[in-house]
Amino acid sequence: MKAVQVSAAGEDFEHVDQPIPDPGPEEVRIAVEACGVCGGDAVLKEGAYPGINYPHIPGHEIAGQIDVVGTDVEKWDIGDQVGVAWHGGHCFVCDPCRRGDFVNCENGSITGITFDGGYAEYTTAPAEALARIPDELDAPAAAPLVCAGLTPFNSLRSSPAGSGDLVVIQGIGGVGHMGVQIATAMGFETVAVSRGPAKESLAFELGADHYLDANEQEPAVALQSMGGADVILTTAPNAQAIGSIAGGLKENGQLLVIAEPHDPVELPLSQFIANRQSMQAWNAGHARDAQDALEFCALHGIEPMIETYPLEDASRAFERMSTGNVRFRAVLLPGQ
Ligand SMILES: [Zn+2]
Ligand SMILES: [Zn+2]
Repeated sequence: MKAVQVSAAGEDFEHVDQPIPDPGPEEVRIAVEACGVCGGDAVLKEGAYPGINYPHIPGHEIAGQIDVVGTDVEKWDIGDQVGVAWHGGHCFVCDPCRRGDFVNCENGSITGITFDGGYAEYTTAPAEALARIPDELDAPAAAPLVCAGLTPFNSLRSSPAGSGDLVVIQGIGGVGHMGVQIATAMGFETVAVSRGPAKESLAFELGADHYLDANEQEPAVALQSMGGADVILTTAPNAQAIGSIAGGLKENGQLLVIAEPHDPVELPLSQFIANRQSMQAWNAGHARDAQDALEFCALHGIEPMIETYPLEDASRAFERMSTGNVRFRAVLLPGQ
């Protein structure tokens, strides 16, 4: 099969031909139709995670069709359309697993980090890492949804915000453009925050009720004039922007952080204490969460805006993503 691998930390992508992998007894093999290109893939490229075995195939936004089912796998069949997200499986026996908290498994796997990912024509994945893709979604649309859709979906549905509450999506990029659509469909009064007038029409197209141009006004001040935000979901990894927009929370409001900035974030803790506000960090979710996100997006007709690339153009797709030029998610199509 054709695959893209990283041969050592810090190396560029390398195109290789290698044997099609066979699944273990508790795994399936997937003919990869689409794989999203994500900032998380830089972890493998840069070696920013301990114990990665190189060479290694990146990609944790997989959508494709099961073509071999391991001998001990139940409930999944050849031909099923499935997604595989960042959370690539769990041990079922550690303490968090015993409590059903699979995302915090002490021995958990990460797709494209601890086992080979989706920058290839085929991949294998543990059965517990599979999310069923609804018929309404094709593979290129589904692939980014298991990461850039799952994270805002799962964090917002777990937040204290209820129907009609003021929810802010800071940043309209790969994750933010999903966040605006999802927040709107969840019934929140949705405020999109970005920079420049160009994002304004896009924000309304995505369903936002309000748009704040951070170049024109201080978002925190504008939010306070609207009564304050119940939840602010920060999708842009900008320490200064995260710290300053926290001033827009209302009493009991929550700053929901899903993007990690390189610099430390300064938060106005006296304001947090005085108004009993909170900061909640969030990572993606397990496979059933991913399936919930897929089903929610299918139900509401929500799709990512994507650029598609053949596998041969993986480096260009990654570059478009990492320089922030992609509109808004890059998706590889290894099956073509
Ligand atoms: Zn991702
Ligand atoms: Zn575990």
